[in-house]
Amino acid sequence: MFNKLRKWMLAYLDIGTNGSRDREDNQQIFVSNLFSFIGYTITFALAVGAILNANTLLAISLFSASLLFFLAHQIHRVKSIKNTYKISTRIVFVSLLFLMLYLVYSGGYANTGPLWIYILPPVAFFFGGLRKGLINIGLFIILVSGMLFYPNDMFINAVYSYEFKSRLIYSFLTVTLLFGFYEFSRQRFIRFIQTLSDQFEQQAMHDPLTQLPNRRAMGDYLHHEFNRAQRSQKSMSLLLCDIDHFKKINDIHGHEGGDYALKALADLFTNTLRKQDKISRWGGEEFLFLLPETTGNEAHILAEKIRKKVAKHEFTYAQKTFNITLSIGVKEVSQQMSIDKAISAADNYLYQAKENGRNRTMPETIESGAD
Ligand code: GH3
Ligand code: MG
Ligand code: MG
Repeated sequence: MFNKLRKWMLAYLDIGTNGSRDREDNQQIFVSNLFSFIGYTITFALAVGAILNANTLLAISLFSASLLFFLAHQIHRVKSIKNTYKISTRIVFVSLLFLMLYLVYSGGYANTGPLWIYILPPVAFFFGGLRKGLINIGLFIILVSGMLFYPNDMFINAVYSYEFKSRLIYSFLTVTLLFGFYEFSRQRFIRFIQTLSDQFEQQAMHDPLTQLPNRRAMGDYLHHEFNRAQRSQKSMSLLLCDIDHFKKINDIHGHEGGDYALKALADLFTNTLRKQDKISRWGGEEFLFLLPETTGNEAHILAEKIRKKVAKHEFTYAQKTFNITLSIGVKEVSQQMSIDKAISAADNYLYQAKENGRNRTMPETIESGAD
């Protein structure tokens, strides 16, 4: 029974949330639904109380507020309206603001109306953030102060003592500052967590030595680009490169010399390829390039350009100069082929390049569009 109620309540408060929105927006929709639910139930109950006390004007105001709070929630059900969450939070906030002004103006039930205004700061900061929240609350304080302290109580219907009015404003200011400070710390904390999460993501997706995307990140790019290429019917190609006799470089120049060569090579790749191409460190001394909107023929030309540039480059480590050569397998990814199959085909060509004497690109020539 309790579980059923909980499930129903959660589903009710989730109306308007959507997996494609970011988490912060969904959280706002959820809380806006919660506010509107609490808002319309409480104002409805208070309105019934006002009727019983024969306070018609108060009852009408409370019923109107209740209806607005209810609408703020129901608006999510209207499929034709976009950005319902922005409209909904605005309705909740503006109805709340007017209700508070009315309660201060009228005194509500037995002059207890102003007690409700402390609800505003948390709601204003939650929906508007620190800056907008402060502006909205500032405007509210100016309006309420004007109403309360205007000579001869021209703009209020209730009778408050001077002490009550001034303490109301002081305490409201204090609550606003405390909530403002809380919101400030909350935002700072969110930024800190965001930076931390960006750092973790960078670490999880990049190779620490060369700073290139690692195999995992490349897996994501490959799927993303493959889907895009299929949608747009455009070609894409892969290059799989492996350093020739890298073990020898390690033997001659030490492991650190090998590391240096990998880093220098990564920089060379980054400077040679186009902006849209993705380079990854696929394995130890193996690199996979993803070339979007590139035919096999174009990829072959690019592969040869890289191979020749690397072969010509002089690497210097600990005052010793050495050369590096690459073997490269090229494969255009066809629409019918899976990514894994394309990688495995590029790997086969790479193997052939090694077999045929290294420092070469395979296949030797590519008819564009051919598999
Ligand atoms: P081949 O031409 O057939 O590719 O010969 P190879 O020596 O390049 O290939 P092999 O697979 O036999 O050896 C690869 C070497 O790369 C062995 C391994 O120690 C080295 N290696 C892999 N990752 C790193 C690294 O991060 N730093 C360094 N310095 N060496 C690495
Ligand atoms: Mg090798
Ligand atoms: Mg290898």
